[in-house]
Amino acid sequence: VLHNRLVELKGNIRVHCRIRPLLPFDKEFGDPASQDRVYGPEESQQVVFGDVCPLLTSLIDGYNVCIMAYGQTGCGKSYTMLGPHSKEERIPPWGPHSDLGIMPRAAAELFRLIAENPSRRLQVDLSIVEVYNNNIFDLLAKARGMAASGCRREALTTKDARREVPLLTREPVHSAEDFVALAARSLRLRAELATLVHARSSRSHLIITATLTRGPAAGGSPADQQAERPPLEGRPASGSRGGASCGRAPAGSPGAQQPKEQVHAKLQLVDLAGSECAGVSGVTGSALRETSFINRSLAALADVLGALSERRGHIPYRNSQLTHFLQDVLGGDAKLLVMLCVSPCRKHVAETLRCLGFGARAR
Ligand code: ADP
Repeated sequence: VLHNRLVELKGNIRVHCRIRPLLPFDKEFGDPASQDRVYGPEESQQVVFGDVCPLLTSLIDGYNVCIMAYGQTGCGKSYTMLGPHSKEERIPPWGPHSDLGIMPRAAAELFRLIAENPSRRLQVDLSIVEVYNNNIFDLLAKARGMAASGCRREALTTKDARREVPLLTREPVHSAEDFVALAARSLRLRAELATLVHARSSRSHLIITATLTRGPAAGGSPADQQAERPPLEGRPASGSRGGASCGRAPAGSPGAQQPKEQVHAKLQLVDLAGSECAGVSGVTGSALRETSFINRSLAALADVLGALSERRGHIPYRNSQLTHFLQDVLGGDAKLLVMLCVSPCRKHVAETLRCLGFGARAR
């Protein structure tokens, strides 16, 4: 491949970069590879999803799963997680199928796997939130009509991250199409709100949560029942699991909680706010406030991931709403994939290094 590239090249000087594999020598010095997989600019959405896909099988097997995109604004986080135009009011459509990001592909795979495993009786509920200035906004509740009536956006929580996250709207979805349509509705609303506050959608974290619960027993095969992991409520928690959960709020009884619900597993897809907000100098007013909230929440996330990778006893989930909200899918036996999105441009090299540093810390 390298030879072919050299034959094609025109001009005198080219700079290429090639990462050699990790050698036994490196491992002796206890230096593991910092990233598991590197994608070039030409790599397709399909190839990226190919590496994500096994996590959906883990989800069906009862593991909590989180897929998050981290990086500087404009580096492809939303493109990776959702697809092109995902910050625009005209979504859907997202464009050609080949452009679809992880969310619609994961929805399709999830429902394919559910259909393949009927004896598990899995049902899916969605909740979709935006974390902005350390407050959680329930986009599904807004999408249900409050926004249409011109209602002002209201945060679900106070700034006190120690408070439990109250019940969120959870809507059942019965197909990948349902899933994507509901997500699209929330994203349109998010884009609409973004026009009210400058570049808002890059300044907030978007979290799409699919909660898998078991439907009423219908005589699944004993072998299949045995293969399943015990429900979350019957398992030891990953870290302390106070709050930060999505409560079921069936239509007609907002806020009502079903006490006996058996959560099988949870999938959280996270499009993080731009990580470039390292400094606050020269920024004033609401932009300064925003920037410092983003800095703090991403630092809290780095602290949690660092504490997890160092296997520390105390994991500081409660230092921000973001980490509090993601607590179930960070740590324990939950599976996390961090997709670092970086720019190919020289002028962004400092941010790129910071981004890679975040990835290295998480690992
Ligand atoms: P971010 O969410 O990190 O701010 P976006 O996902 O909005 O960045 O990407 C910025 C622009 O770059 C968008 O127009 C997007 O469609 C485009 N883009 C990002 N990654 C790719 C890619 N791998 N292939 C083609 N276009 C991309």
